Amino acid sequence: MLTANTKSGKQVCLGYHYRKESLISLRNKEEFICPICGEGVFLKLGNQRIYHFAHKSGGSCREFFENETINHLEGKRQLFQWLLRQNIPAVLEFYDKEIGQRPDIMFQYQGEKYALEYQCSPLPEKDFIKRTTNYLTNEYIPLWIIASSHIHKKRRNIVALSNFDYLFLRKAPTENYFIPSYCPENRHFHLLESIQPISIKNALVQHSIYQLDNFILEELLGPRLSDSINMNIWNTEKESFILNWMLHPNPKQNSFLHEIYQRNLNMFLLPPEIGLQVPHSILIQTPPIIWQTYLFMDLLADKQPQDSFTLKELNFHFKKRIHRKEIMLRNLPQLDSLNPITAEISYLKQLEKIGVLTEQGENIFKLERKILIPTSNREKEEAKLHFNQKYLNMLAKQ
Ligand SMILES: [Zn+2]
Repeated sequence: MLTANTKSGKQVCLGYHYRKESLISLRNKEEFICPICGEGVFLKLGNQRIYHFAHKSGGSCREFFENETINHLEGKRQLFQWLLRQNIPAVLEFYDKEIGQRPDIMFQYQGEKYALEYQCSPLPEKDFIKRTTNYLTNEYIPLWIIASSHIHKKRRNIVALSNFDYLFLRKAPTENYFIPSYCPENRHFHLLESIQPISIKNALVQHSIYQLDNFILEELLGPRLSDSINMNIWNTEKESFILNWMLHPNPKQNSFLHEIYQRNLNMFLLPPEIGLQVPHSILIQTPPIIWQTYLFMDLLADKQPQDSFTLKELNFHFKKRIHRKEIMLRNLPQLDSLNPITAEISYLKQLEKIGVLTEQGENIFKLERKILIPTSNREKEEAKLHFNQKYLNMLAKQ
């Protein structure tokens, strides 16, 4: 904890610059109390950890603060100073009595009140959601920033993202999604952009690193994000996903596999139109290749060119799959107003780009050409080659 009161009610905030000598002399003449629970706290001035206050005895308050790591203390102090340098009114460890919450930093920006949470340790998903909802209903804009050390890079441009990591997902005013992270050791923000999930965990991303001193709040809230996808990596990862998925089946996959075999489909002989990168596919937890196959079976497979279907039908099938837990959605508490059907509609728009269908006025889609299912590996490779030559560049832009 970095903020405490003196017995006379004066606030001491270690987020500001203090010299050690002045803190030592302050400690000699003052007693400190926790502004939240009113219990006594020590001022710790060791060389190992950053200067901080520590509760003398128990209580829930102690549990809340005493698990703070050095990274957490250091991170929130740096972010606090970063806001002050931009003349943004900010309060470190602000305690809002009315809602019973204490964001790491509360700040005011462009007429809005923000609750910044810098998260270094995992938090149960339900707590994360509860805190976020509580902020939103009390007119705070939550701004969750994850510690960069949580970002698990697997290969270049491929990261493993847990459900917890996805909770930090934000949307830029440009409609693109990103996950903001911060590293106090390197004093930089690390933004994950253009996130395209491949499997439940793995996603294709772009990394952007910004030094704290060359970056302003406005850029964090509305970063200029890259919107292009490396289609060659996408295609390679898609193939390896299918291989892995088939080599390590789990019981949940059985109903899917059973259904596709009944329709004479085979994971290794899917057409290149299934498994496209799609804006908003981040809203669905089920891998894109799976939900796109469902959409194909539900709406496209049995139709002939010139046949049409409506958005209502799309919605009906989507809801049915969700109800049966064949399609799972992501929990994205900071984006709770978004309808996940947007992902499916985006897929239809991609199919429109490549001439499979056209949108006919309000919410009606007409099939223009049938998606052909390859019957051999050779056919599949030929279709892929042809498809890539024609559409690869077009699909690289989101
Ligand atoms: Zn306390």
